[in-house]
Amino acid sequence: MFSRIEEFGWRGGDAGGVGRITSAHGDYYHLVANGVEGEALARKKKSAFRAPDAVKPITGDFVRFRHNAQGESFILEVLPRFSRFERRDPTAKRKAQTLAVNFDTLFIVTSLGEDGDYSPERLMRYTSLAEDMGEAEAVIVLNKLDLVEEGAARTALCESIAQSWAERGVNVLAVSVATGEGMDEVRKYFVPRKTVALVGSSGVGKSSLVNALAGEEWMATGEVQEWSGRGRHTTTSRELVRLPGGALALDTPGIREIGMVGEVDFEMPKGCVSHRFR
Ligand code: GDP
Repeated sequence: MFSRIEEFGWRGGDAGGVGRITSAHGDYYHLVANGVEGEALARKKKSAFRAPDAVKPITGDFVRFRHNAQGESFILEVLPRFSRFERRDPTAKRKAQTLAVNFDTLFIVTSLGEDGDYSPERLMRYTSLAEDMGEAEAVIVLNKLDLVEEGAARTALCESIAQSWAERGVNVLAVSVATGEGMDEVRKYFVPRKTVALVGSSGVGKSSLVNALAGEEWMATGEVQEWSGRGRHTTTSRELVRLPGGALALDTPGIREIGMVGEVDFEMPKGCVSHRFR
């Protein structure tokens, strides 16, 4: 038997006063914890976060918290993160922006669709940021496979992409959330009590992927009614959800929102060529 906080990925021993943040709304946070039915609404204890270097909680964080006599919950401290995905400012003028924490797998999602999101350069930016993320594995997910005409050219393309990343130790999954093709490989990463964080541009299908695994609408997807390459994005808040199978999915803001374009220097892996579809 696992306690509720363990079901949400806690494996740090004594769980007294430990909660995990499932969503953040300005000054308020939703968190799950042992002894809390559903989710508690908590605020930061101001005095505990006054120091300029105090780590502020974000979705996915394990925190120490307590209730006061009025039943209000206060976050006292962010517990050490075993993994983190951060956007660094190369000029070091601003602090690093932390996009996801405490995940076992980082899904770097891109789209092979006509929205033109697929770019080796973009993937390089993500994978280079993932290099020092901690105890987690990065996996590239090429979604919207259904928008590329089936045949030898498609197979060769996916193989060449997979091979160029294999040299760097990164697994590549080619999938279509729309048709279900390749989704068995995706499911292997969604195991009980493990967290998969999804990063990637808006509209590549991150929420659709999580919804497909959940078997229902858990996250808002782009407003486009039918399956199409041009998704409109709605993913603006970060959310941690526990899927029916017991895995945890952590959604993050899209790369356009975080304005990362062109800010990270990198070397292209050999054999990894830019490719436009259609
Ligand atoms: P997110 O912003 O990354 O969370 O993207 P969404 O999940 O909201 O998806 C954006 C758009 O792409 C929506 O219109 C989805 O219906 C569409 N979409 C997602 N996956 C696929 C896919 O495998 N194939 C096609 N053709 N469209 C997809």
